[in-house]
Formats: sequence, C-alpha cells, structure tokens
Amino acid sequence: MKMPKCVCPLCNKTNDLNRVITAQSNQNVIYKCLECDYTLRNIQVSKG
Ligand SMILES: [Zn+2]
Repeated sequence: MKMPKCVCPLCNKTNDLNRVITAQSNQNVIYKCLECDYTLRNIQVSKG
C-alpha cells in the first residue's frame, strides 16, 4: 500500500501527504511544505 504523496508547488519537493496536510476542526485543510514552509489554506483534496 503506497502512501499518498504531495508535491510542493513552490519547491517541487515531494512529501507524504499525511505529513504536509493538516485537517482542522472547521473542515479547513492546510497544506504546509516541510522543505520550504510554503503554506496553502483551504485547499481542495481530491479523493480516489
Ligand atoms: Zn516546498
């Protein structure tokens, strides 16, 4: 079973999705790159 990956649009580094995505209680989803600290709020996460 492969871990979903997410590519940073800024530095193009690939990180595990579960390490860069934070789901908040108000259903906002925040992406934060581990490499460059690029942060993106309210992103759309596609399932499947
Ligand atoms: Zn980055």
